[in-house]
Amino acid sequence: MIPVKAYAAQSATSPLTPIDFERRDLREQDVLIEILFSGVCHSDLHQARNEWGGSMYPMVPGHEIVGKVIGVGSGVTKFTAGQTAGIGVMIDSCRECKPCKKYMEQYCAEGMTGTYNGYERDKKTIAQGGYSTQIVCDERWVYHVSDSLDLAGVAPLLCAGITTYSPLKYAHVQPGDKVAVAGLGGLGHMAVKFAVAMGAEVTMLSTSPSKEQDARKLGAHHFVLSSDTEAMKKLESHFDVVLDAVSGNHDYEIYLKLLDLNGKLLVVGLPSDQPKVNTFELIKNRRCIIGSMIGGTDETQEMLDFCAEKNIVADVEVIPMQYINEAYERMLKNDVKYRFVIDMASLK
Ligand code: NAP
Ligand code: ZN
Ligand code: ZN
Repeated sequence: MIPVKAYAAQSATSPLTPIDFERRDLREQDVLIEILFSGVCHSDLHQARNEWGGSMYPMVPGHEIVGKVIGVGSGVTKFTAGQTAGIGVMIDSCRECKPCKKYMEQYCAEGMTGTYNGYERDKKTIAQGGYSTQIVCDERWVYHVSDSLDLAGVAPLLCAGITTYSPLKYAHVQPGDKVAVAGLGGLGHMAVKFAVAMGAEVTMLSTSPSKEQDARKLGAHHFVLSSDTEAMKKLESHFDVVLDAVSGNHDYEIYLKLLDLNGKLLVVGLPSDQPKVNTFELIKNRRCIIGSMIGGTDETQEMLDFCAEKNIVADVEVIPMQYINEAYERMLKNDVKYRFVIDMASLK
């Protein structure tokens, strides 16, 4: 077994505290990674605090992982020691069902195996995530990362990046399309970068007046406060795509109304309350609501290669592991530009 240091939540109400535990010895297809950086996703907070129900403790969150390969199993073909690699939200799946065969393992018929907060395939071991010094994972769920990119900025690509890249691709965003992004957080800021890189005319819809300059720096062409009812009214039936990356409970109708003919509301944000949909607004313009969960293994590698080619990384605030509880509080106040990333050297 491989001893590691980590930070874990012991219950929904306790702060994250240090913990030591062991990773499994390498199986044939396993890769051992020394974690350099681990991004802090709002899903980490939702789950550490049991906002979606069913959380399992102790819980080491973290599913935006970048590090160096320091060991490989005898059957590994994709990696050798010394290479830079990433792991995202999944570490396994059934590998047999239709989605798995298409490398869309996030939609596995048996349910994907999450990087943390769930059992591994043995249904006994609780998977533990990236707020730790090392991780072991089957090579299928490990990605190649270009050394030309800033590695702290790469970590958030493994969740915030792929979760926004995948639906924008699925919606076939083309040059000249009108795309709005709701919620300028970790996911939202990546959505702006990707939509701009795909050639869209991008509008940021935010609740925070202070984020206008940043939105423009990220490449957004327009910025609208979602609380400004007059400005929102002017945008009704205007967009081809609205990507909703909002973490808090909110009204979906204000975004639905903005869609033009055949417009798509891409929902990736996962607030605790279930949305209500006004069907009269839905049938107008033949609007469509599409949910999207991260992205499959092939598409995640494609996204990382796209980022290397276009020099896209997340805008990050690097923090030591010991700052994590303050970071969660600041995330709740929308006070992060635009992703906290833990420097795992702080745990050694
Ligand atoms: P984040 O960094 O905290 O950003 C969320 C942003 O949403 C905030 O910065 C804020 O932006 C806006 N917001 C928050 N509360 C709001 C409210 N009540 N009404 C309107 N806007 C509000 O969170 P994140 O890490 O980007 O994650 C966003 C959501 O996506 C979370 O629910 C997360 O669990 C989910 N998620 C889903 C997937 C998936 O596979 N579908 C993957 C990862 C994460 P403004 O200040 O600009 O308003
Ligand atoms: Zn995430
Ligand atoms: Zn499957």
